[in-house]
Amino acid sequence: MTGNNGHKSASRFDALIIGAGFAGLYQLHSLRDKLGLSSVVLEAGDGIGGTWYWNRYPGARCDSESHVYAYYFSDELLTEWEWTERYPAQPEIVRYLEFVANKLDLKRDIRLGTRVVSAHYLEDENRWIVTTEGGTRFEATYLIAATGCLSAANIPAIPGLESFDGEWYHTGQWPHEEVEFRGKAVGQIGTGSTGIQAAPVIAQTAKHLTVFQRTPNFSVPAHNRPLSADFKQYVRESRAEIRKLIRSTTNAHAFKISDRKVFDVSAQEREAIYEAAWEKGGLEFRACFQDLMIDKAANDTAADFLKNKIRKIVKDPETAATLTKIDHPYGTKRPPIDTDYFETFNRENVSLIDVRANPITRITPRGIETTDAAYEFDIIVFATGFDAITGPLLKMDIRGRDGLSIHKAWETGPWTYLGLQIPGFPNLFTITGPGSPSVLTNMPVAIEQHVDWITDCIADMRNNDLARIEPTAAAADAWGEYVNETASATLMPQAGHSWYHGANIPGKPLKFMPYVGGMAHYRTICDDAASRGYEGFTRQAR
Ligand SMILES: Cc1cc2nc3c(=O)[nH]c(=O)nc-3n(C[C@H](O)[C@H](O)[C@H](O)COP(=O)(O)OP(=O)(O)OC[C@H]3O[C@@H](n4cnc5c(N)ncnc54)[C@H](O)[C@@H]3O)c2cc1C
Repeated sequence: MTGNNGHKSASRFDALIIGAGFAGLYQLHSLRDKLGLSSVVLEAGDGIGGTWYWNRYPGARCDSESHVYAYYFSDELLTEWEWTERYPAQPEIVRYLEFVANKLDLKRDIRLGTRVVSAHYLEDENRWIVTTEGGTRFEATYLIAATGCLSAANIPAIPGLESFDGEWYHTGQWPHEEVEFRGKAVGQIGTGSTGIQAAPVIAQTAKHLTVFQRTPNFSVPAHNRPLSADFKQYVRESRAEIRKLIRSTTNAHAFKISDRKVFDVSAQEREAIYEAAWEKGGLEFRACFQDLMIDKAANDTAADFLKNKIRKIVKDPETAATLTKIDHPYGTKRPPIDTDYFETFNRENVSLIDVRANPITRITPRGIETTDAAYEFDIIVFATGFDAITGPLLKMDIRGRDGLSIHKAWETGPWTYLGLQIPGFPNLFTITGPGSPSVLTNMPVAIEQHVDWITDCIADMRNNDLARIEPTAAAADAWGEYVNETASATLMPQAGHSWYHGANIPGKPLKFMPYVGGMAHYRTICDDAASRGYEGFTRQAR
């Protein structure tokens, strides 16, 4: 094994990182530039950016506010970059990540167009052998999966898709060339966060847009706008406070969840609080009261407020009824924010189909058939989300000690300690893995915390001449139980059909995957494990 300055074979590295999104880029910088390890990133896409390289669909935009959707580890990066809008659109985020990669000189160690298909651990040599789709072999002591939580597109297996004569696209694999909707009949399947962003933009040019809705959703207006000079100055001057704030809040956003409870205020006061949050817009709506996620009656007040808003916006009562048949408490599925989503259904060229009442049965050469009708389309857009959190890992043939496959280890659902490591898979680290706060946070904060923890862990092993680390089965069992209990103490299980549980993928074991106990608390748990000599892990000398 050699550092940056030593000789090494072309394919042997100290550390191999899979994925060149927010996580992979910072992990490369940390291992290569802070620890001096020979490191390489293998990325399936032909460009960097991860989520933002792939999700180029109309209306693709971040729901985190721009000033917190950024790396906070470097003052230099913070002072040299300026966001233009409250919520950055996809091209601006790609520009940001390009700026970071260039600034840190990362690209020379990133191999694009390189999809990893397998990673096998050789115990005798304490080494991971990684093979790519093109058949190239890489070897490394440490393997870091920075493969993302939302990078394995879910295209539902609807019979007949291959027979469709028109064009079809999944929002998470959107083409780089512009898709022309003008004059076209478009069918959009899916009304999650992505569908809610895409529909208003597609409707602006399409001849007709038909939205197929299975699960109606709450949404709060984003109220996107250009950032004022004053706000930009505030962000520049207050970065230390913002950093401290986003590292201390439950969801790693720049807002704190209120201490007050729903029924501690009068109905009139409550309405005013919700109204103010609606006017302000964005994800902060969920921070109005502290008991929204644990008390169904409390949650119902927010749900009713939001449903009433939909009824006021949408003119056709039947469409409004279909949009408000929401069967999960507010916030128990990923809460979308939107720009004119509900208003879009007032357009003459937009219609809504309730596929819970009349499911899609097949795709034909001309369009989509449901149990009660047939629709003709030029273009079908799948806004059907992802095989989330575990999907990107399970798509690879990962084998640990004694040939144990990740499929076997996760037969009944993901099994990790802290979402960072898996028993039986030494020196494999998963950034924002299952069992960590991941998708319940403003993710750059969660990513930085994981990358820093992994980097410190590897540095500590090298300082102490340790060869391998993996969690004990007992620690992973206890963590899994704790993650489950924590989720069960909230209303989260009441959205049993959500991708948080894996319910959107047929055959996927149902298990609530992210840790709901809050980012700040989670950080303390991880730090404590490390400071107690990596409690819950076994570490072996060379
Ligand atoms: C539409 C959309 C909107 C979002 N909005 C927000 C938001 O508002 N706020 C927020 O905090 N988060 C949001 N997210 C979550 C977003 O994924 C994270 O914020 C962040 O971009 C994740 O970075 P990452 O590096 O962990 O993963 P990703 O950005 O997903 O990068 C993972 C990379 O790994 C690569 N990869 C995967 N498997 C392999 C393989 N086998 N071989 C080689 N390469 C592989 C992928 O190609 C991908 O480029 C959103 C996600 C989506 C899809």
